[in-house]
Amino acid sequence: TTPRRSLIIANWKLNGGIDLMCNSIASLVGKEFDTDIAVCPPYIYIRDMLSLLHHSEVKIGSQNVSKFESGAYTGETSAEMLKKVGCSLCLIGHSERRQMFRENNISCNIKVKNALTHGLIPVLCIGENLEEKDAGITKDIIFRQLDEGLNAIDTTTGELCVAYEPIWAIGTGKSAVPDEAQSVHKFIRECITEKFGNDFAQRTRILYGGSVSRENACELLDKADIDGLLVGGASLDPAHFLQICTQC
Ligand code: PEP
Repeated sequence: TTPRRSLIIANWKLNGGIDLMCNSIASLVGKEFDTDIAVCPPYIYIRDMLSLLHHSEVKIGSQNVSKFESGAYTGETSAEMLKKVGCSLCLIGHSERRQMFRENNISCNIKVKNALTHGLIPVLCIGENLEEKDAGITKDIIFRQLDEGLNAIDTTTGELCVAYEPIWAIGTGKSAVPDEAQSVHKFIRECITEKFGNDFAQRTRILYGGSVSRENACELLDKADIDGLLVGGASLDPAHFLQICTQC
């Protein structure tokens, strides 16, 4: 199998202000990591964060991207703009966006394609809710999110990441147990293999998100198909996030 370098992403959501963000970036800049590290601030702070990197290998990503390229779409930010300003990746279809901003697999698919076209790494977020988990239909949900969300993407250039974030684990303190997460990650890789072939599936990093902390990070990253972490709450404490990035 292809060795995949782990990727750890901080998702700051709509939290904090410029001070917290500057402190967080400062705690990462100048450090060496064995993994790729990325931070997703609110759009308004992206340029500030980029200006503080000072040749650090830390990457900056956005928490969303427009499905439109340009035009009369008030409030939107395009993949091309994000790439040109210096972003490396963008989250797409986070469950909060699916639940509160009417995102669906079809809009996510357009966004994934836009990101790939402009050289941003799309991080497609998928995952089942508690009701779906209890009904035993996790795999059906995941299959559909991948099948529709990745429909007809160009796999010849660029890189794709998928983040498995069971909704019942986000911000709840109830992380999926590593074995349980691993079995879904394995299934995700099988779906990608079936759709796009083994080479692409082996290159695709599949991250886990949902109540990741310094207590469970290493055990999750040890699993064969868990290639990184998407960290919400714990990334708002600079020391805690740094520990997640360095300890495993
Ligand atoms: C997230 O929302 O991407 C997330 C993983 O949040 P938390 O780590 O707080 O569960």
